[in-house]
Amino acid sequence: MGKTFEKSRQLYTEALQYIPGGVNSPVRAFKAVGQHPLFIVSGLGSRLQDVDGNEYIDYVGSWGPLILGHRHPRVIGALQQYLAEAGTGFGAPTRVETELARIINRAFPSMELVRMVNSGTEATMSALRVARAYTGRQKILKFKGCYHGHHDSLLIEAGSGALTIGVPSSPGVPASFAADTITCDFNDLRQVRAVFSQMGQEIAAVIVEPVPGNMGVVLPQPGFLEGLREITRQFGAVLIFDEVMTGFRCTWGGAQHIYNIEPDLTCLGKIIGGGLPVGAYGGKRQIMELVAPLGPVYQAGTLAGNPLAMTAGLVTLQELEKPGTYEKLNHSTQTLAQGLREAAAEAGLPVQLNSFGSMLTCFFTGEKVVNYQSALNADTRAYKHYFQAMLLHGVYLAPSQFEACFVSLAHSQEDLDDTIAAAQEAFREIRAMQGSKR
Ligand SMILES: *Cc1c(COP(=O)(O)O)cnc(C)c1O
Repeated sequence: MGKTFEKSRQLYTEALQYIPGGVNSPVRAFKAVGQHPLFIVSGLGSRLQDVDGNEYIDYVGSWGPLILGHRHPRVIGALQQYLAEAGTGFGAPTRVETELARIINRAFPSMELVRMVNSGTEATMSALRVARAYTGRQKILKFKGCYHGHHDSLLIEAGSGALTIGVPSSPGVPASFAADTITCDFNDLRQVRAVFSQMGQEIAAVIVEPVPGNMGVVLPQPGFLEGLREITRQFGAVLIFDEVMTGFRCTWGGAQHIYNIEPDLTCLGKIIGGGLPVGAYGGKRQIMELVAPLGPVYQAGTLAGNPLAMTAGLVTLQELEKPGTYEKLNHSTQTLAQGLREAAAEAGLPVQLNSFGSMLTCFFTGEKVVNYQSALNADTRAYKHYFQAMLLHGVYLAPSQFEACFVSLAHSQEDLDDTIAAAQEAFREIRAMQGSKR
């Protein structure tokens, strides 16, 4: 306690002069939690340090990639060695690109051919292009509250009904793109069926986060993903699993392994870059063979497959492949979820703890969260208080109710205990605050 954030405040003021909103990605601005962002100087294991010298237990992990924790010695060592002995990249093939593709293919057998790109956004954008080329169709079906990056085809918010033509959710997205993107509620197969029965022959692809993390963690209901597989197969549409977040996060082989569903294309990112910028898309050979230079679908990148990113990713995956890693991650996450659940119950505060593997969201609502609409029921004022209180207790959470927290292999039992103890206090304060409002 007794933290000051003065140096962060000064750096933020400077940044505002040159960078839109002072940040290079909007959620970092901490707008939803009512304060200015913290400027970070370093990370080590489960810990972050800000410029004011405050230390935090970190549950953001660079938004997911740092599943081994900050500054993992093998990742840093491999990067240092590559830099010293080879360089930063050549724009020509290097062996480590094949090694990363091979290990991805071993974990995700559905990804027969894999193309590396520089971000998750690029991965989903390229996957859509290939799906459209493969089917000769234009339309895309996505789900409300699922995030697939910020390119025009997928930055679309739903109209109210399943059959409503999309409207751009961001100015600058051409209406013609929005018109080709249909949105349905997650976990609602009936809507998907209705859309397909009306225009199934026009739909190139269904893209979905099999376990959404970008509206907070939401689980697919039994039969939902199976239903998507069945409907897309029936209508000849491409099923794209966006596992940029869930890939290597919850198990070796992603959500598609856990739910035993084989999508046609898969998008990856985050963890497979070990903390460096990366994305990848891949899938069935007959679809991926359309990608240039093998086929006519153009997609390229000056820094794609950058050997530093490939090296950090490869070492991260090698660490994750060791026995017991996912058991440990899941156990830590369950310990945390259970501790938070008990703390909330003790405080008399209704919350929903949704978790999948090492992703976790504490929704401040008494009702089950199964889709975007029910996520929006959550009390964002309570979350804001929770975030601020936890920060003062030295716990760094995602600065929004609608994000996942990420547990890493570096989180110790003591970290988890400290986090739960901090939450006990925060929950009591929120309960008191809510009580006084009535
Ligand atoms: C993070 C994320 C993306 C976007 O990846 P970027 O690297 O930020 O472009 C796409 N899809 C999902 C599911 C994500 O979690």
